[in-house]
Amino acid sequence: MGFDVSDDLQQLLDKARTFVEASIYPIEQEAIVDFEGSAQKLAALRAEVKAMGMWAPQMPRELGGMGLSFLDHARLVEVLARSPLGLYVFGCPAPDAGNMEILHKFGTAEQQAKWLRPLVDGSIRSCFSMTEPDHAGSNPTWLGTTAVRDGDEYVINGHKWFTTSADGADIAIVMAVTNPDAPPHLRASQIIVPTNTPGFVHVRRISVMGEEGSGWSSHSELRYENVRVPVSNRLGAEGAGFMIAQERLGPGRIHHCMRFLAISQRALHLMCERAATRMVAPGKALGTKQAVQLMIADSKAELDAARLYVYDTAEKIDRHGASGARVEISCVKFLVANTMQRILDRAIQIHGALGMTDDTPLAWFFRHERAGRIFDGADEVHRTSVARQLLKPYGLEIGSQGK
Ligand SMILES: Cc1cc2nc3c(=O)[nH]c(=O)nc-3n(C[C@H](O)[C@H](O)[C@H](O)COP(=O)(O)OP(=O)(O)OC[C@H]3O[C@@H](n4cnc5c(N)ncnc54)[C@H](O)[C@@H]3O)c2cc1C
Repeated sequence: MGFDVSDDLQQLLDKARTFVEASIYPIEQEAIVDFEGSAQKLAALRAEVKAMGMWAPQMPRELGGMGLSFLDHARLVEVLARSPLGLYVFGCPAPDAGNMEILHKFGTAEQQAKWLRPLVDGSIRSCFSMTEPDHAGSNPTWLGTTAVRDGDEYVINGHKWFTTSADGADIAIVMAVTNPDAPPHLRASQIIVPTNTPGFVHVRRISVMGEEGSGWSSHSELRYENVRVPVSNRLGAEGAGFMIAQERLGPGRIHHCMRFLAISQRALHLMCERAATRMVAPGKALGTKQAVQLMIADSKAELDAARLYVYDTAEKIDRHGASGARVEISCVKFLVANTMQRILDRAIQIHGALGMTDDTPLAWFFRHERAGRIFDGADEVHRTSVARQLLKPYGLEIGSQGK
């Protein structure tokens, strides 16, 4: 099992790391607190990235991206996501990146010309609107939002929340029930809704652990009130919404894991820096204390073990596809989210009161990345899914609802 990177990729990773450290770190504190107020500075950085030929690394060259393979892109994410703004500045942030992927794979030529191209070049933003306050997101086949056909149009009604980046987005890709009588996995479709369509109501930006955020860096509650869009706005076949969501989620979970690794790496770096420079007595650094050393060593060991497991899973996806690596994808999703949370917690502990402030990115990561154990499948859902797969060969068949 070898995880060496080619010389070309190493050069790209080094160049990206230098840019993230030299150009993004200095503005990240201000920009994550006031995303909209930092729009100009962020736009200038994005222009620099484009000029360096490093824009939208995951998208094909003919669309204006770098055309990196899944594995190479995953490695790049591990560098870019050391800053909360790295992926945004390089044109591959969630949820746009996932939306680009599904528009590229399932969009018609008209949909791609209208929305994929501007999404890839960064001139519009998007969101993915699936979760609902009144239905358990852990059962994605159970939705209250409906899209009823009326001639050449769908009429959409529903209530969504935690639609990331909806504030200021140009389009929403909405999961809605189009075929209520079909089997559960064939009931919903994904439909593109321009956010200036009458009936698209932005209710509020939701405060997440005390922070509302703004623009791309926020999560919204939405209502769809008799929203009418042409049937041609549907992505893929009618009833294929769940299948498309699965396509998006498999590799997407690896990207989340690479992001979690990047954040853990940054936290380990910050904890070492602080341990080496914070004096607890004249001439006596915090890092001379054994309790602090243990936190650093545990973090290093856990991070490296998690990283190898993620790389191994990514290679398995490359060889056998996401369905051939289902168990591993679930394992790394909950394992790495928890590893990150522990490492962030230790980094905050070592920083003392400073760790609780927004003078380092640790508190922001801690607040926002806690959600890593909930979105894209809560820990418990992945763990029970793994156990179900492992128990099968022993003759115990358990359905997804535990029956
Ligand atoms: C920061 C953030 C960003 C998000 N962004 C988006 C987005 O852009 N678009 C979007 O559509 N959604 C988004 N979501 C929503 C996310 O996908 C859902 O929160 C997630 O699917 C869980 O659904 P739920 O919140 O309804 O929790 P529920 O389904 O109500 O589950 C609550 C808890 O119950 C437990 N649980 C659930 N099912 C099981 C089970 N089978 N076995 C054991 N325990 C179980 C788990 O602990 C789970 O956390 C986001 C969420 C967060 C926090």
